[in-house]
Amino acid sequence: MTDVTYSLCQDCLRLNPTHEGGCKCGGETCSCSDCTETIKQLINGCLEYKTLGLKKPIQSWNAKTGTQ
Ligand SMILES: [Zn+2]
Ligand SMILES: [Zn+2]
Repeated sequence: MTDVTYSLCQDCLRLNPTHEGGCKCGGETCSCSDCTETIKQLINGCLEYKTLGLKKPIQSWNAKTGTQ
């Protein structure tokens, strides 16, 4: 189990270091317990948006590029 030290962009779902204020895409980042849980599931390969607590389906995900 690795420590999650990332915050999740609410827009593109890219992982951003927590010390950085926001995402490159201009979206808001969040590192609350819900988002941390979502990050763990994404890292584990889960793409089921309902499990992830997302509003719309995602086709793919990458830590560096998010869903883009
Ligand atoms: Zn973003
Ligand atoms: Zn959050």
